Amino acid sequence: MAMEKEGLSGAESLAKTRTYGKFRCHNPSCMARITVPPGATHCKCPTCGLEWRVSWIGPNFPRIRGPVWDVNKKLAQEAVAKKAATKEGNQDGIE
Ligand SMILES: [Zn+2]
Repeated sequence: MAMEKEGLSGAESLAKTRTYGKFRCHNPSCMARITVPPGATHCKCPTCGLEWRVSWIGPNFPRIRGPVWDVNKKLAQEAVAKKAATKEGNQDGIE
């Protein structure tokens, strides 16, 4: 009787330590690791601020389905507006 019935609780405690899935940001100039809470359908990259739609191919296996266009477009427009405001007619884009 050395085999105690701890298989289930052992698996459960293991699952609790590995509840977060990870993937890389799809922003080519970012590529940061993003941690996704289980079951989340959206996640925001803490590094570049872009948001991604998430699908789950397994309980701990998130996958980016695509960008959240509304948010990313807004961020892109803000970035462009900021650039335009500081650019001051530098049309070649040389810093
Ligand atoms: Zn990012």
